[in-house]
Formats: sequence, structure tokens, C-alpha cells
Amino acid sequence: MKQLASYVSGAWVEGTGGARPLVNPSTEEVIAETSTDGVDFAGALEFARERGGQALRALTFAERGALLARMADVMHGAREELIALAIENGGNTRGDAKFDIDGASATLSAYAAIGEELGATQVLLDGDPVQVGRTARYEGMHIRVPRRGVAVHINAFNFPAWGLGEKAATALLAGMPVVTKPATATALVAHRLMQLWVEADILPAGALSLVTGGAGDLLSHLGGQDVLAFTGSSDTAKTLRALECVTARSVHVNIEADSLNAAVLGADVSPGSEAWQLFVADVTRDITQKAGQKCTAIRRVLVPAERLDEVAEALSERLTGTVVGDPSDKSVRMGPLSTADQLRDVRAGVARLAEQTEAVCGGLGEVSAVGVADGRGFFVGPMLRLARDARAATAVHEHEVFGPVATLLPYSGDADEAAELVALGGGGLVASAYSNDRALARALVLGLAPFHGRVYLGSDKMAAQSMGPGTVLASLLHGGPGRAGGGEELGGLRGMGLYQQRTAVQGDKGLLKALIG
Ligand code: NAP
Repeated sequence: MKQLASYVSGAWVEGTGGARPLVNPSTEEVIAETSTDGVDFAGALEFARERGGQALRALTFAERGALLARMADVMHGAREELIALAIENGGNTRGDAKFDIDGASATLSAYAAIGEELGATQVLLDGDPVQVGRTARYEGMHIRVPRRGVAVHINAFNFPAWGLGEKAATALLAGMPVVTKPATATALVAHRLMQLWVEADILPAGALSLVTGGAGDLLSHLGGQDVLAFTGSSDTAKTLRALECVTARSVHVNIEADSLNAAVLGADVSPGSEAWQLFVADVTRDITQKAGQKCTAIRRVLVPAERLDEVAEALSERLTGTVVGDPSDKSVRMGPLSTADQLRDVRAGVARLAEQTEAVCGGLGEVSAVGVADGRGFFVGPMLRLARDARAATAVHEHEVFGPVATLLPYSGDADEAAELVALGGGGLVASAYSNDRALARALVLGLAPFHGRVYLGSDKMAAQSMGPGTVLASLLHGGPGRAGGGEELGGLRGMGLYQQRTAVQGDKGLLKALIG
């Protein structure tokens, strides 16, 4: 049995017992095991702070960016191997795997480019200097410098490559060392990535460490210069927010959690238009891509009541044709859920939705999976449901079913009503609105923006270029208020803010200028 070690304090370390299995979700075969029992987490964090932190802070942004570029190159060179691992351990189709893996290397490259652009500097200026004295001699300004601790990254099971890459890119460029922990169940891709980067000898010692398996007492050793960036469920987020390191020692925390993302079809969009086709393609993709196990996936679909039948027909036609099965079979378009627990949770969640909604297509997810022995694997089919009374269907607005299901919600076509219904989700990562009408699009953006980290506007003119609302871009913010965790990642330079202390400095203008030169 393959044993996955952790990479801490500059060495590969295996746990001493209590191994947890990694499973192929199509066959249920155990493919590897991992344990962190006995791993010295306090020592690992200290090594990262001392060795990794010092080495990174000695580099300029351009030099750190060059390290990220090499990480992206190495990753790209091993793309096929990583895709195969994602198919085996994540239940990803080839397309799903590329979404995760190429998304990671693209984000590393994007931050490499930001580093190059920032050039041979080490201090970031935040806004313009301002006069604070009687004369222009005495100024004040804000600078950003790397925190002196370690950034601990805890990631969800659904994006083992992108989760690692996007968080590490921002922290390393900002000048902070990273200890990254993928979800245990799907850690194979992250583990191999780390092996590749270690073999290529890219980063200074201690700059990047990997914990493969449970977090143990890792977080109890964090202090006020450290950062904890978490992606996962609201339940785990609640536990982490209550940790003493957070409540008593002010560890800087970023939370990326659940989201009931909504798509709103504008009343002006008619069947056959480019915006209509984009809307149908986006909703279909979000239900089926990664078997709906995408934090940004559209869960609620608001449709003007008079268009309900046409939308239901267009989506059903596409979803019914989706081939579900073992993703190593080339005909398969949607793989299994990633774990047995996920299958259990999705079935329970769909049953909860079914109390307040009716099936449009896909029933309760019953499916005959292609290329799999009978009864094996964590499969459900794509499902579309309908809540005739959009407001009364509370489960649709409150419970994230992390699988291939979305619910149609009829509304009047009024922007304010749409925004109000979407807000019942309690805050989300992304909302999408489809309209070519400028006044309607404006009203929707202003209604949706307070409740979301990102608003995506689908229209005829951008349809040909769009990758859909589910694609997170390095240049735009990812995160959202309320239920979504209240966090912010990426967004170009903004993403580095978590890893930097913003400090106001006041003094003689000449001295201040020399600071950022
Ligand atoms: P999860 O069960 O909360 O696990 C997430 C991570 O937290 C895993 O690495 C897990 O480690 C770790 N963990 C669990 N308990 C912990 C504890 N007490 N201390 C330290 N670490 C702990 O979530 P999941 O099932 O992997 O992910 C699914 C959820 O993530 C969905 O709700 C989805 O919406 C959300 N998600 C959000 C985003 C976003 O960007 N907002 C992205 C992806 C997913 P082990 O695996 O070792 O248990």
C-alpha cells in the first residue's frame, strides 16, 4: 500500500499509526494511506517561520515571482500524470481534472507576473502619501510588509491542486512561508505536486511544507504573526473560529465556506439569443462539472415565471444526455462524488430538497453508471428540481447540497424581487445575472453586490468569451460575505493583503520616499 508522507522541516516524514485511506471513488478501491500521528507540528511551524520566512523576506517581489513561475512550469510538465491522479483519487473526468490543475498553474503564473511587475522592491505602498504636518515636509503613508509568522492553509477535498496553488501563490509572493494541508480523502494530487516541487529544488528550505493527513495539534501552535486560511464546510469553519489561537492570540483568519450561488435570468432574455444560450450552458456546466462539487456552482436558478417551461425543457434536454460513470472511460461526462460521506450527505440533502420541491429531471439522482461494477462507486445522476413558491422553499436557500443538483425558482422578472430572493441564501461567492438591458443589469448588480464577493453579468456581447461564473480568476476577488465565510482571496494584489501587515508610517518626506524606493 502506498504511504503518503508529509513534507515538514525540510524532510519527508511518515506518521506512526492511525492511517486514513484514500479511495478511488469509482471503484471504492483503497489506493493509498496516510497518517500524521507523531509528526512534530510545533517544530514544523518554527522551521517554516525561521528558515522559510527569512529566506522569502530577503527576496524581492520579482525574485519571489520567478519562483512561482518555476512552480507553474514544473506543474505544467507533469500535467498528464497529475490528471491521471485526479481521475483516480478525485473521481474527476479529464475535463474536471484540467479545471483544477490548469487553474492552479494559471494562478501561479498570474502571481508570477504580478511579482515581475512589482519588480526589485520589498515594500508595497498602499495608497498615496498624504501631508500630515503644517508643510509638505511632514507626510504619512501606508505600507504593507510580510507578517513574520507562517501561513497555514487548510483546503477542501474538491480542488486539491487549485486550492494549494492559489493560496500558496499569494502567500509566497507576499513573503510568507506556507504550511499547506489538503483534505485527506483526495490528497494524492497535492502530495505528488509537492514531490515534484521538492525534486525540482525550487523554493528555499521551509518556504513550503505539506501536511498529508489530519491537522492534529497543528493549529494550537499558531500566534499573532501567523495566518490561517481555510476552505471547507461552515461546520469546520465554526470550529476553527473558536480556537484559542484565534480568540486569544488574534491569528489572522480567512474563511472560504459554503455558498448557494444563484443565476438570475433577466426578463429581457429570449430563447435562442446568445445570452440565453450562455445561461443554459452555464447552468448545465455547473450542475455536471466535478459532479456539482464546486464551491461556485449554481444551486438556485431564478427564471421569469413565463419562461419557466422553456428553461426547464432546455436544461432537461442537456442534463438527460449526460453520461455518468467511471471517468477513466472516455465516453463519461460526469464522474462520481469524491467520497462515501459526500454520497451520504448529497442523498440526505436531496431528500431535504424533495420535501419542498418537485423533480424536473433526474429524479432523486438514481443512475446507472457506465464502466463500473454494479453497486460500486459514489455515483448520483444530475438533477433539476423546481420550487413553485420560490420564497417558501426554505431548504433551497439554506442547505447547500454539494452535488449535481440545482433548483428552478420562478420570479416576476423584477430586479428587486430577484435580488431579495437571492439574498435569502445568506451571502454567497458568486451570483450571475443574464441580461442585455443596461438598466436591469445595473439594478441586479446593485441588489446582488452586497451579498456576494463577485457578480457575473452574462450577455450577448461577452457570451463567446465567457468561461462561466464558476471559474475563479486570479485577477478578481474570490470569497463572499455571511454563509460564504466572509473571506477574500485572490483579486490580484488584494490577495496578498492577508499575509501582510498594513502599517501607517509618518515622518519626513525624504525618509518615507527612501523606504519604498
Ligand atoms: P471540511 O470537511 O470542512 O474539510 C475541509 C478541510 O478542513 C480538510 O482539509 C479537513 O481535513 C480539514 N479539517 C476538518 N476538521 C478540522 C479541524 N478540526 N481542524 C483542522 N482542520 C480540519 O470540508 P470538505 O468536505 O473538504 O469541503 C466541502 C465544503 O467546502 C463545501 O461545503 C464547499 O462549499 C466548501 N468549499 C468552499 C470553497 C470556497 O472557496 N468557498 C471551495 C471549495 C469547497 P481532513 O480532510 O483531514 O479531515
